[in-house]
Formats: sequence, structure tokens, C-alpha cells
Amino acid sequence: MSDLAPLDTPDLHALTTVGIVHVTPEGNLLRCNTPFAQMLGYSRDEIRNLTFQQITHERDGTLCVESFQRLWKGSSDAVSMALPFIRKDGSFTWARLTVSLLRDREGWPSHLLAHVEETNDRKAANAHALADTLPVSEERYRGAFKMSPTSVIIARVGDGTIIDANPAFLESMGFDSDEVIGRTSLELGIWANENDRLKISKALQENAGCKDVEVRLRRKSGEVFWGQVSASFAEIEDVACIVSFTRDISAAKANEEKIKNLAFYDTLTGLPNRRLLWERLRQALIASIRSGSKHALLFVDLDGFKSLNDTFGHHIGDLMLQETAHRIASCVREVDTVARLGGDEFVIILEDLSKVPEIAAAQAKIVGGKILSTIDQPFTLNGRECHTTASIGISVFGGQSESTNEVLEQADIAMYQAKATGRNAMSFFAPTLQASVDARAAMEKDLRLAISENQFSLFYQPQLDRGLTVGAEALIRWKHPQRGLMPPGDFVPLAEETGLIVSLGTWVLETACTQIAAWANRKEEAHLSVAVNISAREFRQPKFVENVLTILNRTGANPNHLMLEISENMFADHIDEILAKMKKLKEHGVMFTLEDFGTGYSSMTCLKRMPLDQIKIERSIVSQILADPISGAVARAIISIGKAMGLSVIAEGVETEEQREFLANLGCHTFQGYLFSHPLPLAEFNWRQRVAPGCTRPPV
Ligand code: C2E
Ligand code: MG
Repeated sequence: MSDLAPLDTPDLHALTTVGIVHVTPEGNLLRCNTPFAQMLGYSRDEIRNLTFQQITHERDGTLCVESFQRLWKGSSDAVSMALPFIRKDGSFTWARLTVSLLRDREGWPSHLLAHVEETNDRKAANAHALADTLPVSEERYRGAFKMSPTSVIIARVGDGTIIDANPAFLESMGFDSDEVIGRTSLELGIWANENDRLKISKALQENAGCKDVEVRLRRKSGEVFWGQVSASFAEIEDVACIVSFTRDISAAKANEEKIKNLAFYDTLTGLPNRRLLWERLRQALIASIRSGSKHALLFVDLDGFKSLNDTFGHHIGDLMLQETAHRIASCVREVDTVARLGGDEFVIILEDLSKVPEIAAAQAKIVGGKILSTIDQPFTLNGRECHTTASIGISVFGGQSESTNEVLEQADIAMYQAKATGRNAMSFFAPTLQASVDARAAMEKDLRLAISENQFSLFYQPQLDRGLTVGAEALIRWKHPQRGLMPPGDFVPLAEETGLIVSLGTWVLETACTQIAAWANRKEEAHLSVAVNISAREFRQPKFVENVLTILNRTGANPNHLMLEISENMFADHIDEILAKMKKLKEHGVMFTLEDFGTGYSSMTCLKRMPLDQIKIERSIVSQILADPISGAVARAIISIGKAMGLSVIAEGVETEEQREFLANLGCHTFQGYLFSHPLPLAEFNWRQRVAPGCTRPPV
């Protein structure tokens, strides 16, 4: 220590206001310059008798001495830390201490030279003090801290000062280390939502930590993002700290948002979907009970949309739906909801109408009128001009405890009323209609019971070719315990709607096939085939083909004697899937008749692709052939199309000899109708019978 430089030389004094002091590795102060002595309020002589432990807090003093010794031994190069120094009068001042090792000419450690610079920024000093102490004692922690892809910050418990932040945090938030250390998160403005900060601080107070709390954070650039914060207390070098880990979950949140949108909005039109509509309707119901105001639900269905879709293709159909969504939205207020239920069905909730039902209805009618006329305007879709109309059902609700289901059902019923009155019309749900709603519900219950109790029976209506019975159409009847024998028109539509048609249809097929097999065993009746009506919903069942084949197998019926009657409207959608199923069954010998031909939407191209055996001239056409020249022309066209395509043609609903004769003259010789026989229970079915009871002239 002999070559210690004098620290009080005038030139050094003049050069610096920084305190300089020589120290031993044990912390003894050897000599200092005046600024250092002044800073602590001692004389330079007094300083010489002091130790570092006496001019700092006990813990800091110990830390300093430990680092001096490391420096002396060469296990670190320099010490730099900020800490409070205790003045002679007991007050303290914050200062940054930088210590370096000086060596003699031989390279041996000679003494430690400390620079002490007072700092006014207490917090920065405070922070640096801890930040610098951490690496010394927690090397393993430091490695993980630095390398971690998760943002980590450490803050003092007392005042929230950040004392360290890892590179992941700095990079993600866009700050430099100097900007962060010594400041609080609040000062950095990283909380986009003050409540998030409070939430975490509360969790720390109450539960000593928090895990995966989702918060909105703000980067230095101002960009706000979603983060997930976990925080807990930790004692680092005897200082109570909060260690917070933050993950950027913006990408996950964006995905979540997308999924949410998919779940609540219709992808084609961007309108709320059924789920969101349900929720809005529920809220509207609650609000109406509270306020007493009426609301209205408008059920809008486009007229003939399926036909448009079929004629021009799905792409044009989609454009039409998008444009319709747009037009409807332009007819309502911001507060109202326009939703797409699916297909061409839209639902509108008009909120906060008058408390007087009649006035509310009038208000809804105005909006309904606007919607009708906006849809009635020509659409230009992909350069093609199209036209459509809509039918609207309106239900005025509120002020009492109705259910979402009830309101929707009422509007739906009213919409069907509107359709029935000739389309491009609107209709209000009248309470009297409620009775039919209830009746339908009761019938559905009965129908389920009927299926389990097998209350059905098949009737057979003969089909004749040139006077000979060649087969029969199987027509279902319900032997209702209270209502007696019910025709299919009274329950098949409900069975179709509810899906019960699938089990019902299986029963029909099973019974018809059993009959085919039974007739096959009797010589005289072995030629008889049975036509079975198949509903669209039944046909669409993924297992339909397997089902039919299993039944054929089980009953041993000859597939050539099973004629499946399908209707044209079945081809409105999923044509390829339906054609594939038909072909599969056809390969097994099953026959097909297309009924209702000429009433639906199928084009000739589509007809040509169908593996048919027969076309049926519909009852409504037959009933008009004599009176209406157009019906006559349609019948003629069907017969020639059938001939051209090599298909047999059968006319149903033939009631009079004149109708039969007219058809025979056009070249149609296969008939079904009351002229020959009504549908009969099996016991009464007689294949030899050529004349219906009451029919005087035998058919040719
Ligand atoms: P559809 O397939 O058009 O059946 C012919 C209907 O016309 C039968 O009515 C039959 O009784 C009636 N009919 C036959 N000849 C004449 C006639 O000369 N004049 C008049 N006015 N009507 C005649 P039904 O039995 O009431 O059946 C009605 C509809 O119910 C059937 O129409 C068919 O679409 C459906 N259906 C019947 N049975 C079944 C079934 O097992 N499954 C399915 N999915 N639908 C069925
Ligand atoms: Mg039929």
C-alpha cells in the first residue's frame, strides 16, 4: 500500500466532485478525498478510522465487503452497486459505488479504489443496488432469467420499483434496461387497463400470488396486447420482491376470438347466427318483462329460393343471401338484431316498441313492409338479374313470461300463414294459432308412442297395366287410439319435421318387403311389386342404402319387386350424394319411380342422370287434364319424355274413365286411382280385382 496516490491533491480535487476512497478488502477506509468526506459529513481524518460497515447499513456493508474480497481474489473484475450511505448525523444518502482493483508493478493486488457518486434518483440507485447484488449470489437464477423466453420482472414489494427485467421482457415491451430499472410498472405505463394491475395486486395481497391472469398490456410503442401474468413473492438477497412472469398470448386470443366469431356469427353473411339470436332474444324477453315494452320477432323466408339455387347454382344463391342480409339490415335500427337462422331464413328482433300491443304490431308492420319491398327489388348477382320475394311471419311479444322457443315458433307459424296467403306477404301470429301449436306438440308425443307401440298399418293401392294389377303402392295409416284411422297427410309431415320419419320409414320398408316376399311364394301373386314412398329426410340418412339392403336380406324380398318412390324436391340439395345412393341401390336391383315430376325444380340434365325406371304423373295434373289444356300438355310432355328415356309412365289419381281414356290416348297405360281401387288393407287387397266398388265400366 506504499504507493497509494494522495487523494487530496489540489488537481484531483479540482478535477472531480466524485468521492474517492481507498479501502481494504476487509472494508477499512484508508483515505479519501474531500468530496467523499463532505458527502458523509465527516472530516477526512475521521474517515480513516471508519469501516465500510459503519457508513452503510449492516446488510449492505456485509455485501460490499463480500464483493471487495471477490475482487481482491480475482473472482470478479469490478463492483458497481448503488446503496444508501449513512452520514455522521445519522441521515443517509444514496450513492453509486464503483470499486476497482489496483495492482502494483509486479501485478499483485495493491489496494481497492472506490468511486462514490451521490445520486438524487433514489429509486434508480435503490434498484441498481439490488440488481447488482443478484448476479453475485444467484448465478443459476441469472442464467434461467436471461435465457427465459417468458418475460420476467422483479420488483421490490415496498414501492413496486422494478429492480430487474430479463431480455425477453425488454424485447417484448420495447424498453431498454435503463428505462425500466428503478421505475414502477405504473410509471412505465404498461397497464392498458388499471383494473388488471389492481387485480394482480389484490391477488398478491390475499393469496400471496396469482397464476395465469389475463391482462391487457401496453408496449412502449403504445401497442396493446394480451398477456398472461403469474406472480409471486420471493425473497431475493433478503429483499422482499415480487417476481412476475408474463406470456404474450395475443395469438391465442386472436384465435379464440375467431372461434368465438365462428360460434356466434354466420360466416356467409356476417350476421348473428342462431346461437347469438337465441341469446339476444332471451335478453329481449328479460328486458321486456322489466320495461313492459313490446318487442317483435320477424321471421323472413325467401320465396322460391331453392329453385333459384337450383337454376343458377349455389354461388348465385350465396350472393343472393348476402345481398338480402344487407337489404334487411338497412331496414332496421342499430339496436335491432338481424340474424340468419340458416338457409334462406332470417330473423329480426325489433326492440323497445310501444307498450300497447296494437301500436307495437303497427310498428312491426311498417318494418315488415319495408323488408318486403326491398327484397322485391331486382337483384343483380354476378351480372345476372334475378328476382325474389319474401314471406314474413311476425310475433309481437313481451311483458309476460314467454320462452324464446315459443316466440320463434309463433313467428314461424305466422310465416307459413304468409306463404299460404300467396307469398310476398306478411302475417301476424294470432293467439288462435296457439291451439294448433299445442295440438302439434300433443301429436308429436302421440306419434312417438305410436312408433313404440306399433299403431301403424300399411294399405295397398293397386297399380294396373292394361287392366292387370301389376303391383301396389304401400300407403301408411295410423290407427290412432282416439282419432281412428288417420291418413298420412295428417302425420307424415310432422314425422318428417321431427325426424321420426326415419323409424317410421324403416317399419314401412320392412312391412312392404315382408309382403313382397310373401307374394313371391304364391304363384299367382309372385309378379306383384310394391311401391314405397321415401321422404327426403329418410333418403338423406347416411345409412339409408345399408338399411334397405339389410331389410331386403332379412325379409328375402326380391329387390326387383321393390319400387322406391322418390320426389323431385329431394334433388334440391346434395344431388350427387343422392344420385350415388340411387346407383348403389340400383346395382342391387332396386327400382325407382320419380313422383311429382314437373312440379319440382329438377332440370332435364338432372333427370337424365337419375337411374330411374318409372315416372309418375301427379294426381293434381291428372285431375285437371280434361279441364285445363296446360295440364293436358304437361301430361303429354311427361309421357313423351318417359318414352324418349325408355322409362315407364304411371298416372296416379285416375278417378274417371275419361281421364283414363285421355291418358291411354297419349300412350300411358299404367294407372293408379280410385277408378280402380282405393288404398285397401292387406286383407281386402285382391290382385284380380279390376274394377273399384261403385265403378261401372271395367277398365281396358
Ligand atoms: P302419394 O305418394 O302421392 O300417394 C298417393 C295418394 O293419393 C294417397 O294418399 C292415395 O290415397 C291418394 N289417391 C290415390 N288414388 C287417388 C284418386 O284417385 N284420387 C285422389 N284424390 N286421391 C288418390 P294418402 O294415402 O293419403 O297418402 C298421401 C301421401 O302421404 C302420399 O302421397 C305420400 O306422399 C305420403 N305417404 C303415404 N304413405 C307413406 C309412407 O309410408 N312413407 C312416406 N314417407 N310417405 C307416405
Ligand atoms: Mg307416392
